[in-house]
Amino acid sequence: MSKSFKRFDAIAAVKSPGNGSLSESGKAFDILGIFGENALHLTELKARLPKTIWKELKKTVTDNAPLNPDVADAVAVVMKNWATERGATHYTHWFQPLTGHTAEKHDSFITPNQGGGAVAEFSGKELIQGEPDASSFPSGGLRPTFEARGYTAWDPTSPAFIMENENGATLCIPTAFVSWKGEALDHKTPLLRSVEALNKAGLRALEYFGIEATRVTSTVGAEQEYFLIDKEFFYRRPDLVMAGRSLFGAVPPKGQELDDHYFGSIQDRVLSYMLDVEKELYRLGVPVKTRHNEVAPGQYEIAPIFETANVAADHQQLTMIVLRKIARKYDLVCIMHEKPFAGLNGSGKHTNWSVSTSDGLNLMEPGNDPHSNMLFLFFCTAVISAVSKHQDLLRAVIASAGNDHRLGANEAPPAIISIFLGDQLDDIYNQIKSGELKSSKKGGLLGLGTPVLPPLPKHAGDRNRTSPFAFTGNKFEFRAVGSAQSISLPVTVLNTVMAEAVDYMCDLLDEQLKSADFESALKVVLTNVTNEHHAILFNGDGYSEEWQVEAAKRGLLNLKTTMDALPYLKSSKNAALFEKYNVLSPAELESRFEIFVDQYFKGINIEGETTASMVQTMVIPAIIRYLNELAATLDRGEKLGFTISGTKRVADHLAKELDALIEANEKLMEQNAELGGETEVEKAEHMRTNIIPAMNKVREIADRLERYVADDYWPMPTYKDMLFIK
Ligand code: ADP
Ligand code: MG
Repeated sequence: MSKSFKRFDAIAAVKSPGNGSLSESGKAFDILGIFGENALHLTELKARLPKTIWKELKKTVTDNAPLNPDVADAVAVVMKNWATERGATHYTHWFQPLTGHTAEKHDSFITPNQGGGAVAEFSGKELIQGEPDASSFPSGGLRPTFEARGYTAWDPTSPAFIMENENGATLCIPTAFVSWKGEALDHKTPLLRSVEALNKAGLRALEYFGIEATRVTSTVGAEQEYFLIDKEFFYRRPDLVMAGRSLFGAVPPKGQELDDHYFGSIQDRVLSYMLDVEKELYRLGVPVKTRHNEVAPGQYEIAPIFETANVAADHQQLTMIVLRKIARKYDLVCIMHEKPFAGLNGSGKHTNWSVSTSDGLNLMEPGNDPHSNMLFLFFCTAVISAVSKHQDLLRAVIASAGNDHRLGANEAPPAIISIFLGDQLDDIYNQIKSGELKSSKKGGLLGLGTPVLPPLPKHAGDRNRTSPFAFTGNKFEFRAVGSAQSISLPVTVLNTVMAEAVDYMCDLLDEQLKSADFESALKVVLTNVTNEHHAILFNGDGYSEEWQVEAAKRGLLNLKTTMDALPYLKSSKNAALFEKYNVLSPAELESRFEIFVDQYFKGINIEGETTASMVQTMVIPAIIRYLNELAATLDRGEKLGFTISGTKRVADHLAKELDALIEANEKLMEQNAELGGETEVEKAEHMRTNIIPAMNKVREIADRLERYVADDYWPMPTYKDMLFIK
C-alpha cells in the first residue's frame, strides 16, 4: 500500500460522519407513508379545491385544455397553503434553460401589512407567469442581451414540489421558459410540444384499430449511472472540480476486469447514501425503484418506474439534483460525467421510452403472439421507420464532449445508430419483409437441471448490451444517451420522429385502403415500410469491427464525434420535421445548434487550460522535487562511495520524461492561447483537431510518470485512491 493511499485514507476516515452509519434515525423509513409528501399531486389538489375548479384544472392537466385564470387563482391559494404548512417561506419558478441543468430564482410569499406585520400571499398571476432576468442564460442568438426579457410559464402537468434545506423550504413550480417573443429558451417547451404532436398522430392511428382513447402519450424511465468518490479526493483534483472528469490518472492494476463490482453487495456507506437519496426522492414523489453497483469500481445506478414523458424529464432532473446534494452529507461527491475515469466504464443514461394511451394501454406491448398483434406491429414498425429516417438526428441530440468518450469506444453503444429487436421480433420482421406473416417464436420454459429450482419462463428474445437502441420487452431503450445530459431533448426527438412516422404510415394505409380491406392494407404497409428501412435493424455485436464495415455497406451513418454529428441537427430535413410538428422553429433549432457547439468548445477549452495548469503547477514541480532528492542521493552516494548506478538510471529516465512532458505541455499551452478562428464552429473545430490531441499527448506522458514517480511525491490522488470507497 502506498503512502499517498494511506494519507488520503486517513483523511477520509476522520471526516466522514456518514461512514458506515445507517440512516439518521437509525431505522428504516415508512416508504408508503412518506411517498409524495413533498409533492403537490392531483389527489391533494382535488381534496383542497372547490369541485368546479378541480374539474377545470383536471381538463388542463389530463387533456391539455387551455387554463382558465380563475382556476389559477384558486390553485395559487391552495399551493401557498400547502407549501407554507410544510415550512416553505419562498416560491420559485423552476425551469430547464438550455444549459441542460435547472434554474430557479426565489421570491418570498411575504407581503407587509400597512399597520405592521405581514401576510403570506401568492396570486394566480404569480403562479402562471414569472419574469426572471433572462439575459445570462444561453439563447443561441434567439435574444440579444438588450432584449433581456424572458418569461416562465407554469406547467400544470408536472406537480409542484418542496425543496428542503436545513434552514427552510422552497415551493418549486415547474415552468417553461420563453423569450419575450415567445421562443423556447428551454428544454421543456419543445418537449411539451412534441408530446402534443405525438398525441395527435397517435389518436389518428388508433382510430383505424377502433380503439377509443382520450390521449396518446409517451412514457419514459431513465436509468442514471454515476460515480461516487470521497470529497477529500475530489477537491485535490482540479480536473474533477473544473472539468468534471479526470484529465490524468493511470488505470490501477485492479480495474473492472474481475467484474466483481457489478451487482456486487453494496458497501455500507454507499448503501446509507442510496437509502437517503431514495428517501428524499420518495418524499418528492419520484418513484425510484432499482439500485445497484455498476461495472466500474465506484460506479452505481439508480432507475425509476416510468412516468409520462414530461413528468419523467422533471423527475430525472430532480434525481440528479438529489444525488448530488445528498452525496455531500456523506462526504462524497456524485460524478455524472460520461467518462470521469479513462480506461474504466463510462456512464450512460439509458432512456426507456414507449407510447401508451391515457388508459395505460402500452402500444409497444407485443403480447404472446406478436405476429398477429397488428396494433403492436403498426407502432413498432413506425419506430423502425422513425429511427431509420432520423438516425442523424438521434445521434446529434446525444452529442457532447463527454459522450464522445463513450460512443464508439467499445464499451458503450457505437456511434452508429441501429435497432436491436431480439430473436422473436427479428424473426417476425423477416416474415414481414417477405410478405408472409405466420408465426411467433415462443419463449418457453428454462429447465435448470435440478428439481429443487423451479423452471423459469424464458423471454422470446435475449438482450443486447451493444445496441444504441434496443427493444427490451415492451419498450425501446435509447442506450446512447449521456449520463450528464438532460433527457428532454432526446425524448422530444423520439416523440417527434414517432409522430411523423405514425402519420406517414397512416397516409400509406389510407392509400392502400382505397382498394383493400384493413388487414390486407396494413400488411402491405408493414411490408413496404420494413423493406424500405430494414438496414437499421441489427441484432449482432455492435462493438465489433465487422459492424463498422457492415454498417458502412448498408449506408448507415457513423458520426464519430460531436462535431461530426451536430451539423445534422439543423439539416433541412430536420428543420422541416420540427417545423411541421410545431416543436422547434428554424430559429429555435439554429439556437440549439449554436449552444451545443458553444458548450463543446467551452468544455474542451476548460479541459485544455486545466490540463496545462495542473502539469505546470503540480506535476512538473513534483517531479523536480523528486529529481532533486535523487540528485542529492547521487551526490552523497558518490562521496560516500556506494553503488549508485540504479539510482542514476531512475534519475536519467525521469529527467528525460520530464523534458518530454514540458515540451508537450508547452505545445498545449501554445494551442490554448489560440482560439482557432472567429466563429464558434471554428473554435470548436480547433478544440477537436488541436486541443484534444495535445491534451492526450500530455496525459500519456503524465500517466507514465505517475507510475514512475515516488507515491509520496505525486501531487494528486490516484485512481486507486479514489475508486475504492472506504
Ligand atoms: P431493464 O433495463 O433491465 O429491462 P427494467 O425492466 O427495470 O430494466 O426497466 C428499465 C426502465 O425501463 C425502468 O425505468 C422502467 O420503469 C422503464 N420502463 C418499463 N416499462 C416502460 C414503458 N412502458 N415505458 C417507458 N419506460 C418503461
Ligand atoms: Mg436497462
